[in-house]
Amino acid sequence: MEGALTARDRVGIQDFVLLDSYTSESAFLDNLRKRFHENLIYTYIGTLLVSVNPYKELGIYTKKQMDIYMGVNFFELPPHIYALSDNAYRTMLMENNNHVILISGESGAGKTESSKKILQFYAVSCPRTSLLDNVRDRLLLSNPVLEAFGNAKTLKNDNSSRFGKYMDIQFDFQGEAVGGHILSYLLEKSRVVHQNHGERNFHIFYQLVEGAEDGLLRWLGLERNCQLYRYLVQGQCAKVSSISDKTDWRTVRKALSVIEISEADTEHLFGVIASVLHLGNIRFEADARGYATLNTLTSSVLVSPVQLLGVHVQVLREGLTHRKIEARAEEVLSPLTAEHAIYARDALAKAIYGRTFAWLVNKTNESLANKDSTRKTVIGLLDIYGFEVFHVNSFEQFCINYCNEKLQQLFIQLTLKSEQEEYEAEGIEWEAVPFFNNKIICDLVEEKHRGIISVLDEECLRPGEASDLTFLEKLEEKLGGHPHFVTHKLADQKTRKTLERGDFRLLHYAGEVTYCVVGKEHSSWQSKNSIVKHCFPSIEPDSKKRPETVATQFKSSLAGLTEILMSKEPWYVRCLKPNNSKQSGCFDDVLVRHQVKYLGLMEHLRVRRAGFAYRRRFEVFLQRYKALCPDTWPHWKGKPADGVQRLVIHLGYRPDEYKMGRTKIFIRHPRTLFATEDAFEMCK
Ligand code: ADP
Ligand code: MG
Repeated sequence: MEGALTARDRVGIQDFVLLDSYTSESAFLDNLRKRFHENLIYTYIGTLLVSVNPYKELGIYTKKQMDIYMGVNFFELPPHIYALSDNAYRTMLMENNNHVILISGESGAGKTESSKKILQFYAVSCPRTSLLDNVRDRLLLSNPVLEAFGNAKTLKNDNSSRFGKYMDIQFDFQGEAVGGHILSYLLEKSRVVHQNHGERNFHIFYQLVEGAEDGLLRWLGLERNCQLYRYLVQGQCAKVSSISDKTDWRTVRKALSVIEISEADTEHLFGVIASVLHLGNIRFEADARGYATLNTLTSSVLVSPVQLLGVHVQVLREGLTHRKIEARAEEVLSPLTAEHAIYARDALAKAIYGRTFAWLVNKTNESLANKDSTRKTVIGLLDIYGFEVFHVNSFEQFCINYCNEKLQQLFIQLTLKSEQEEYEAEGIEWEAVPFFNNKIICDLVEEKHRGIISVLDEECLRPGEASDLTFLEKLEEKLGGHPHFVTHKLADQKTRKTLERGDFRLLHYAGEVTYCVVGKEHSSWQSKNSIVKHCFPSIEPDSKKRPETVATQFKSSLAGLTEILMSKEPWYVRCLKPNNSKQSGCFDDVLVRHQVKYLGLMEHLRVRRAGFAYRRRFEVFLQRYKALCPDTWPHWKGKPADGVQRLVIHLGYRPDEYKMGRTKIFIRHPRTLFATEDAFEMCK
């Protein structure tokens, strides 16, 4: 069946709306599993696409396949990500409005691959009328660049996105892809200095060490051996069988030149990346008073970062071993202990990497920008880190999972809202379906004055007095009674699972996660380091503004993202992970069932069934099927609604199968539409 296309695939059911026992989770899983084992990884719920990661190449993403799906009605071919892409594209052109494809699912479920397939579809198969070929190349090649700097091997995924990405693809009125713009969200910077067992740092470091030409390596003061760099070996898996760092290096180099990053900038870029590796190897010793010093051996280690970052050696030395304190309009240098110097070093490395990533996104955007000012419509692609639970979950997992809560909230609002609004606008009665609303968890995190982020902010305003434990105490005090919040003290009563003293647990919509608050103070403030300022003057945050914590910044950037998404017409791809061992052909029922549950797929199906699976504007419906009725063929002279009415009566639609709205016909079951479509095929 691989790659083959019949008019419709007949394995299982290609749209869950057609499932007879549509309220049964088991029937849902049976259908999904049956199709998965036949390499049919896509199934619809109406217009929502469910995708199960096959963990193998299926040969279903060829140019030929793209052509087949281009301009064909959604339900006429087997479900495919191209069908959804094409449908969004066509609707955008027809209605001249903006769309967004929301891709969700947990880490490793296939979100990033889906977003790449969609981008490829638009870049390859949309019309080409002008001389903008290189825009498409740049759109496509922005991916390997950002992945090299923003993805890493984790336990869940060998190519896990460690930043959130929203990308607009801009189309002109003829439907040609003419530009793009990327927004990135909260890069997991802690990975630069620390990786858990079995995980790696960002790909680019290994690519550089493994792939760079000898001359470049020499200039960067690096040796071709990942084992020599402390920042690269903490997970003890610098080599990964599924990854070829050498090949990827060449791809990235080429991509950098296609997106027009100059040779000088590229050199500088690798200089900064190398300097991070050098920083990681700096050691400190304690002097007689316990203060950090750099021993002579280390001084030579300073040479490379000093040259590569372009700062004075004394500035770097001071920046690593001292802290600036502002007292009465005076700056005083206060020495750091050896232990704190390590924090300072790591903070510097993270800040440098973070700014480099931001710089790279800016550069990419400059290259994707469309200079032509005529009005354009966009299709946005949201590929953001999925819900994740590790053995130890830190501040960054907290942000990632909070982000997933927000997106789930948006999904709930949009699916319910849009359905209700459309039925209302069209004057159609319907019955609401109850959902688990995760708003309560979003509030727990983000509510003003009471939410976790607000407590964190308060604690950060009391430097010196506040500690990890006082933070926990505050949380307990404010949120102790909350049904989704558990701490050490409350653990036994609520979940019977014990908790460490320094941890708290959230009952997320997708499962329980225990967060470790130790080290919170190190991750809560944007670092303000003079070295970083020196290297990246243009993207330093405005120092006059009141500083914000990282959590608060993230919260406002998510609010901004929500606004962007709400202003567009949404399409959904829900990605499922078939097993936890990255294996093809293995479908773990328990695991998939859990995802089906928390992604709200059963409820979504129920909403779809309670309502009407398909709707078409009268004109469109009539135009397509008019040949099926002598009264409407070749032309219907009256009102389109009357023509449609005549047509469906002639086709024998039962009154409960459809409803006539104000501008559209609503069809309850895809089956009805399929029958009509079959009739249409036969009369052609
Ligand atoms: P996510 O972004 O959801 O964390 P990815 O999209 O990175 O997950 O997918 C993880 C891995 O699964 C990919 O690197 C690839 O090996 C495999 N994979 C995902 N989707 C597909 C697909 N449609 N076809 C083949 N392999 C896939
Ligand atoms: Mg990803």
